[in-house]
Amino acid sequence: MTDFLRSLVREISDFPSPGIVFRDVTPLLGDPHGLRESVRLMTEAVAEFRPDLVLGIESRGFLFAMPVADRLGLGFVPARKPGKLPWTVHRQAYGLEYGTDVLELHVDAVAPGARVVIVDDVLATGGTARAACSLVRTSGATVAGVVVLVELVGLDGRSRIDAPVASVLTY
Ligand code: AMP
Repeated sequence: MTDFLRSLVREISDFPSPGIVFRDVTPLLGDPHGLRESVRLMTEAVAEFRPDLVLGIESRGFLFAMPVADRLGLGFVPARKPGKLPWTVHRQAYGLEYGTDVLELHVDAVAPGARVVIVDDVLATGGTARAACSLVRTSGATVAGVVVLVELVGLDGRSRIDAPVASVLTY
């Protein structure tokens, strides 16, 4: 199954900038079996962490986090780029290859003490997932795990995240 899913992730060199090999999940999402199987495998991985809630990272994390949460009978909350959430937020800045970015989470999105699984499409350097972990902990909740469809193991993002990490496909 993972070979089939791997065949549906398109590799695009030098996007969005020179030297980056972008892993494009849109062919996988557009294929009915690819969509079903990727959501099924991510749901299994998320369930192993026994969460109370699923958090998706804007924007491609939303595409997987929401169906996974629904299949497990759980709620979904979004961590968003700055200025998008309408209510009071916790903010966390994080480093990118060049410059910084910010993720925000509504202050009441995650109940203190909840077990939260963070979902994204790709784990690269780990900075984004690490920022999402900080937001969950600022809310007084526990990061039960981080689940991604694609892990770029050469970048060792996993080592920057002090929570268990699971991935469906590794490159
Ligand atoms: P990072 O913070 O370096 O782990 O980057 C993770 C975020 O950037 C994820 O939300 C991904 O969607 C995106 N991203 C980073 N590198 C890639 C890549 N090579 N292909 C696709 N998406 C990427």
